[in-house]
Amino acid sequence: MNKFLTALLLALALLCFGCGGQQGASADGKMQVAASFYPMAEFARAVGGDRVTVYTMIGDGIEPHDWEPSARDLTRLAKAKVFVYNGGVEPWAQPAVAAVADDGVQAVEAGQAFMQQLDKSDPHFWLSPRKAAVEVAAVRDAFIKADPEHAAEYKQNAAAYIAKINALDEKLTVLAQNAKIKTFITTHAAFGHLAADYGLRQESIMGLSPQAEPSPAALNKLLGVMQKDGIKYVFFETLVSPRIAETIAQAAGAKTLVLDPLEGLSEAGRQNGDDYLKIMERNIENLDTALNGK
Ligand SMILES: [Zn+2]
Repeated sequence: MNKFLTALLLALALLCFGCGGQQGASADGKMQVAASFYPMAEFARAVGGDRVTVYTMIGDGIEPHDWEPSARDLTRLAKAKVFVYNGGVEPWAQPAVAAVADDGVQAVEAGQAFMQQLDKSDPHFWLSPRKAAVEVAAVRDAFIKADPEHAAEYKQNAAAYIAKINALDEKLTVLAQNAKIKTFITTHAAFGHLAADYGLRQESIMGLSPQAEPSPAALNKLLGVMQKDGIKYVFFETLVSPRIAETIAQAAGAKTLVLDPLEGLSEAGRQNGDDYLKIMERNIENLDTALNGK
């Protein structure tokens, strides 16, 4: 945390360079939005459309759980009109917001409605379509507050995007209801909200931190669950090495498949034109394969 505090102090010193400048609007008249990591940026772009320029603080291919802002990141944050963050993933967000408070940055914690449910400190709300829709609505409300002149556009954009998320919700609801197997195995425990909201069960190899190492006892338990439930797939994710998932799959005579926690796009994904909706579609297809033992 020392590094972070130093960065904060530095940023505070630098902020006065921006004093007197125009806050939150660029030369093209668009509202400047800072988003903590990928899904927050995606929701901000979906709601803001042509009215906003969105800057993602945690860039492509970077795992967000242990990230901390540099002085430069905070200086850039201070220039935004709205800052969108999830909550729970970004312990640095509130101190950062406090540091730039005088610059009039309006912060929105998109997952605020679920922060009370942060049992087991699982903040991956965006992976449950049901909760993602609520996060998009929170972004919409923040944009309307920051830029009431364009409220109608924000409402329309948000409604269109939420309709697409609702289609994912319907697909997942039907899939989960009809699934032969109700349990799935993930690398890090990112899919607890998805599991809980759709009546499924997640067993994770590494718990909530993608970097943790599993104990032999935990691995044995996992292999037991896989055998008992007839689980034939182990999910791994895009930003973390698949090594552990592969080892477990091999030990259990199972295969591996991707379940993307959408914590950032990979370079390849960005080039393929991937986005939240497309990746969630693929996640649902892969869940279908795993839960129906195909
Ligand atoms: Zn995570």
